[in-house]
Amino acid sequence: MSLRVLISGAGIAGSTLAYWLARHGCTVTLVELAAGRRSSGSPVDVKGPSVDVVERMGILPDLRAVATRVNRLVFVDAEGRDRGSFRMKTFQGSAGDREVEIARADLAAILLSAAGENVRTLWADTITELTQTGDGVRVCFRHAEPERFDLVVGADGLHSTVRRLAFAPEEDVIRHLDMYVASVLVDRPIRDEHHVVMFNTPGRAFSVHPASGTAVAAFMFRRRAVAGLDHRDTAAHKRLLAEAFTGRLGRFERYLDLAMATDDLYFDSISRLQPPRWSTGRVTLVGDAASCLSLFGDGSTLAIAGAHTLAEELARTPDDLPAALDRYERRHRVLVKPRLRGYRIGAMLLVPGTRATLVLRDAIARLSGR
Ligand SMILES: Cc1cc2nc3c(=O)[nH]c(=O)nc-3n(C[C@H](O)[C@H](O)[C@H](O)COP(=O)(O)OP(=O)(O)OC[C@H]3O[C@@H](n4cnc5c(N)ncnc54)[C@H](O)[C@@H]3O)c2cc1C
Repeated sequence: MSLRVLISGAGIAGSTLAYWLARHGCTVTLVELAAGRRSSGSPVDVKGPSVDVVERMGILPDLRAVATRVNRLVFVDAEGRDRGSFRMKTFQGSAGDREVEIARADLAAILLSAAGENVRTLWADTITELTQTGDGVRVCFRHAEPERFDLVVGADGLHSTVRRLAFAPEEDVIRHLDMYVASVLVDRPIRDEHHVVMFNTPGRAFSVHPASGTAVAAFMFRRRAVAGLDHRDTAAHKRLLAEAFTGRLGRFERYLDLAMATDDLYFDSISRLQPPRWSTGRVTLVGDAASCLSLFGDGSTLAIAGAHTLAEELARTPDDLPAALDRYERRHRVLVKPRLRGYRIGAMLLVPGTRATLVLRDAIARLSGR
């Protein structure tokens, strides 16, 4: 097929889509806001249907080579003493032992290099304007010259610019779940690469997650949505993080210092995103931009699977975009729908809100650990 496609976002969904569209003969341009690869990002999973997709891309061995070796989630007290644990296999999906857990940055980089030289990438740029005409979409960029494309895909994550420009303002489609998450890369190798260690107090969770020879420290906390908080305002994020955790981390306090000192802090609200439709004319959405339940919704797995389904449907009827986009949405929503539900159980297990639920969670973990 000879479609000219612009994909906004060279993350997990965008890079996967670029690979498959280029393979189907499309002329693909990626526009990515970041100037290059970032180091932040907790390990994410390649599970269930996404395993077949990466296997067909020939990159499963590359993913395995840098996958984490984590096999247990261990809950500890403020002194680091064991309070119970879950085997990671408990969370395994339909692809069983073929599933991998990998640092987000590594996954995005491997997917992007698989897409290879057939894909043009505009780094450190973003779409500023989209105008649909009868036979295409005219796109203006912050830096590059305006261009016309047959199709524009928003793969630019939870805070998608494409979604805002072509569909609705963010506040109309995102539901904040009264929790925030932050993560920072740990500055030295971690001795135990098999265990994720988690320390909880009511409404707060701190964890150290080994990944790629080092580790990621993550902070989650329950808090009502902060009005007007900008998802790019790192100073405000650090203030919120300090308010939630200062003096509450016991022997793990130094990781908070690390988060305060870094200029590469990942911070976001935990949100559910369910826009009523994913396509309008020649503009469509994929990955977190289309649907998301941050942390609890298998975001990376759905991003890979959704991108593959979209490419497959476009290849079936490249001359009938509305039909292709409609089939993509109907097929992928079947996968997404159940994943947008399981939030409360996941939140209760990882961030118990009260002392009573924390005691209950630890008791379940002790039984499960045996
Ligand atoms: C830097 C970063 C760190 C993350 N860390 C974590 C984490 O620690 N824990 C976790 O659970 N999830 C994290 N996520 C989210 C998680 O990776 C996603 O749920 C999942 O991978 C879905 O993939 P996606 O491709 O839809 O979105 P993402 O992986 O979010 O990728 C979106 C891409 O679009 C780019 N982008 C954003 N806005 C624009 C724009 N206006 N123009 C062009 N490009 C744009 C982003 O830079 C990114 O490369 C992180 C995402 C990012 C971007």
